[in-house]
Amino acid sequence: MTPPRVVVIGGGAAGLIAAGRAAEAGASVILVEKNQTVGSKLVLSGKGRCNLTSGEEDPEVFLSKFGPKGKFLYSAFSRFGPRETLEFFNSRGLATKMERGKRIFPARGGSEQVVTCLLNYLKDGGASVYRNREAINLEIRNGTVVRFLLRGQEVEGDAFILCTGGRSFRKTGSTGDGYRFAQRAGHTIIPPRPALCPVKTKEKWPLIARGLMLKNVSLTLLRNGEVLAQRFGELLLTHFGISGPIAMDMSREIADAEALGGASLTIDLKPALSHEVLSARIGRDFAAFSPLPFREALKDLLPRGIIPVVLSLATIPPDQKAGQITTEEISKLAALLKAIPLTPDGLLGFDWAIVTAGGVDLREVDPRTMQSKLVKNLYIAGELLDLDGPTGGFNLQMCWSTGYIAGESAALATWSH
Ligand SMILES: Cc1cc2nc3c(=O)[nH]c(=O)nc-3n(C[C@H](O)[C@H](O)[C@H](O)COP(=O)(O)OP(=O)(O)OC[C@H]3O[C@@H](n4cnc5c(N)ncnc54)[C@H](O)[C@@H]3O)c2cc1C
Repeated sequence: MTPPRVVVIGGGAAGLIAAGRAAEAGASVILVEKNQTVGSKLVLSGKGRCNLTSGEEDPEVFLSKFGPKGKFLYSAFSRFGPRETLEFFNSRGLATKMERGKRIFPARGGSEQVVTCLLNYLKDGGASVYRNREAINLEIRNGTVVRFLLRGQEVEGDAFILCTGGRSFRKTGSTGDGYRFAQRAGHTIIPPRPALCPVKTKEKWPLIARGLMLKNVSLTLLRNGEVLAQRFGELLLTHFGISGPIAMDMSREIADAEALGGASLTIDLKPALSHEVLSARIGRDFAAFSPLPFREALKDLLPRGIIPVVLSLATIPPDQKAGQITTEEISKLAALLKAIPLTPDGLLGFDWAIVTAGGVDLREVDPRTMQSKLVKNLYIAGELLDLDGPTGGFNLQMCWSTGYIAGESAALATWSH
């Protein structure tokens, strides 16, 4: 019996594991990648260290990170979830370690080791990798994909797995081609939007402190005064607005609130202190620095880089002596430090977004197999699906889980025919 031919389009996280698993399950596999190298985005991930999954052990909590759509991943996670992912990499010689925030990284080296591990998996199963081959179209006959047209070539198969990623960080090869392929197969595409993306602000003051990473601050999103979301952690000030973990994580909610109008943000530089405690602390500092100008009296309280910003926003003249500042002015200053106002002005865009929200409508994909419900020998995995999670290893885990079961299902379904 000749083995089934499985063609995987896209050699990112999802495509590599899908191709490896299909080959391991006995299929004759071709992985088509338009770049000269596979895993370009994977190599960049986690700043080159690859936060490959999360150590969050409660599956409910894990899946809740994807919002209501997370329930689509139940089957995939029970077949190949975070634990199986770690077993997979560990058993293939890639030791891992858990860091702050339950983030899991390779214990030694980084993303390159993850790609090498996956390429070895493909090699062990005898999968072929076509590099520098761009898929440009697919031919569907009688509800079945018969071939994919590549630039200058075509490739036939018994099953096809679309793993072309989203539309973010285009330079890595994810230019949204998969949406077109899926649409040709009749799929609905939930409009792609940048997610985990830096946020532009109307105010220009972040420019004054560009490059400053504020630690242990909180960011609050409001709409017409009502609190919609809050994050605590690190926030980066940039020449266009805000970035860093908490801004990126909140960016989708910010974009959604902005679309409705009335969205605003506040930064709390001292979230651990109440307004009263902070006012008292400022009062003590100002008494201690009483002969010095206001601008000098802030240096024990705030990171040096943010002081010019506070000076530009506060109502107190920078040269006023600290000892002459009134209780009312101190109270106003404390209020400012606990809620520095910002107005969002859109996200920076796909080229800067860590992931793409939107994608192939999950209602048209079988969650147990990743098989298209519209075209029977077509499978869809990874970021191309309408799934996106926060930073912390969740997005790659989604790619490992959906890619693995897509590869397995495509191989096994075609063996059984
Ligand atoms: C800077 C950065 C850091 C990140 N860090 C992390 C992290 O630490 N942890 C985490 O969980 N997530 C991280 N992410 C997100 C995560 O990397 C992605 O969600 C994930 O890599 C998506 O994998 P994918 O296989 O679905 O798509 P991709 O990795 O985008 O792969 C798609 C592949 O398909 C190829 N392709 C596209 N169109 C065609 C075509 N027409 N023909 C042939 N090939 C095609 C592309 O060239 C590409 O190689 C990061 C993302 C970025 C941008």
